[in-house]
Amino acid sequence: MKYFGRLAPTPTGYLHLGHALTFSTAHRRACDADGRIPLRMEDLDPHRCSEEFARAAMDDLRWMGLEWSGEPIFQSQRRHFYLEAWRRLKEAGFIYPCRRSRREISSLAPHEEEPVFPVEWRDDPREAQSFQEPCGVNWRFRVPDNEAIFFKDQNFGVIEKNTLRDFGDFLVWNRDDIPAYELAVVVDDIAMGITEVVRGADLLTSTARQILLYRALGAVEPAWFHCPLVCDTEGRRLAKRTGGLSLRDLRAQGLMPTQVLDLAQKSLG
Ligand code: GLU
Repeated sequence: MKYFGRLAPTPTGYLHLGHALTFSTAHRRACDADGRIPLRMEDLDPHRCSEEFARAAMDDLRWMGLEWSGEPIFQSQRRHFYLEAWRRLKEAGFIYPCRRSRREISSLAPHEEEPVFPVEWRDDPREAQSFQEPCGVNWRFRVPDNEAIFFKDQNFGVIEKNTLRDFGDFLVWNRDDIPAYELAVVVDDIAMGITEVVRGADLLTSTARQILLYRALGAVEPAWFHCPLVCDTEGRRLAKRTGGLSLRDLRAQGLMPTQVLDLAQKSLG
């Protein structure tokens, strides 16, 4: 089977050192396997993504020498694929409409990045049948109760995540009528025939959620390779605030791509 990887930036900010490490690892693994590595721009959220960041991401990738295979794919143009998956999941009773707000959920555990959605707040999947379209409410995937999800990570070894402990019912569509990250990524990775997903270790729990979506959609999961996280000088994981560690900034300071990768290696958390 031919190797298919992907580069999947989200254009909500400039690429940083962490992206340089993940994308160069993804690129190297595709080259080593004589495979292909298309670019997929994860620009689903019109309020947070911009064309400027999308252009900058492509420019930064090229500067790093990370060329992709074929024409870039834009998630914003693929709504019909996500809608079809939403219909299938709804018909099969995997998802349900949820009226709890983000604020209500985060008030449960204000210090946690992603509090586990409480089982008591689940709604009945039968209610889903009256909906012809997803818009107007959030949609959640009902996870099995207390199941251990295992996967073999090509970098970290066997990973275990437990439903209702590490994660609960998760969003597949949000009430602003935007498909959620988990659903869009799985639908695209299946449609694009991706054989290995290379991503940051911040997405380990997402990978477990996505395995449930593969199962629900009757698809075979790809191989997984998670990259360690790059931290800033204070040891915090790099997020959107890159504190001078965006690839733009480093390039402007005169660093070459190989020096950027060295710096990333030295800044692992
Ligand atoms: N777009 C995601 C990010 O920039 C990565 C998506 C994925 O690897 O599934 O963090």
